[in-house]
Amino acid sequence: MAIQRVAVLGAGTMGHGIAHAAVAAGFETALFDASTDALVRARTAVEAIVAKGVELGKTGEADARALKGLLKTFDHLAQAVAHADIVIEAVPEQIDLKLKILREVEKHAPARAVLASNTSALSLTEMAAVLAHPGRLGGMHFFNPVHKMKLVEIVRALETSDETVAAMQQVAATMGKETVLIRESPGFITSRINAMIGNEAFYMLQEGVASARDIDKALKLGLNHPMGPFELGDLVGLDTRLSILQYLHRTLGEKFRPCPLLEQHVKAGRLGRKAGKGVYDY
Ligand code: NAD
Repeated sequence: MAIQRVAVLGAGTMGHGIAHAAVAAGFETALFDASTDALVRARTAVEAIVAKGVELGKTGEADARALKGLLKTFDHLAQAVAHADIVIEAVPEQIDLKLKILREVEKHAPARAVLASNTSALSLTEMAAVLAHPGRLGGMHFFNPVHKMKLVEIVRALETSDETVAAMQQVAATMGKETVLIRESPGFITSRINAMIGNEAFYMLQEGVASARDIDKALKLGLNHPMGPFELGDLVGLDTRLSILQYLHRTLGEKFRPCPLLEQHVKAGRLGRKAGKGVYDY
């Protein structure tokens, strides 16, 4: 199926980035949010990314105007999805909300439309189960900030059809992204590995193997990681880190048991950059 029209649901951090990637790829893009303020902020953010492209000489003035014309915003779901070939859902990470929205989407989107969720950790199979045609849903896990990050994890739920997988891969490729294909599993590839590295770094700090600065330095200079695990943890938020680990511990078992020193940091309010203090002081 030739995909021309994309609908993005949720205009927050991820939704506006996905909408930008969609217009930059030449798709007619409908961006939906329950909040009109969020839609205004999202349009401003998309236009700022396009303007930066012009400033850097990556986008011509005429192309920039055309890109802005491809983006339409909606505060009515039915209108936003009415002509979509693919709907990409990026509303908050709450299963009840996602299920409610997907039921609505199925009522109003064309029967041929593919449905993709950008969930970080919820079950795509559970989402597909509320649809009359579960084969049409899969996962497209984008990374933040979308316009800088090359990867999209494509996730096949239990009943995702081959056509749905192919459509998601095609859309990501048209957006200039690289993809990997994953059978639905907690943490996909990236969050699972990243959680393991971050947790192991805390165990090493707890055991006094080395200082936080030296563990970060070793991973950057010895393993070519762009950031050390503690620098990254402080950026993402140690509370977020802990909740991902708790989820992986519940679903994948003992090897993901959160390190006590990480739990202590969260209890102490050392949540990372956003709190002014984490593993490091800011
Ligand atoms: P966000 O809070 O920045 O944005 C969510 C948007 O959804 C907001 O604009 C909000 O107004 C809107 N919204 C809330 N209820 C709604 C409703 N009923 N109908 C329509 N819109 C509604 O969230 P985010 O960080 O963009 O995350 C969105 C999804 O992407 C989540 O599932 C998250 O797990 C996933 N994700 C986030 C990141 C990240 O780094 N932030 C990375 C990958 C995936």
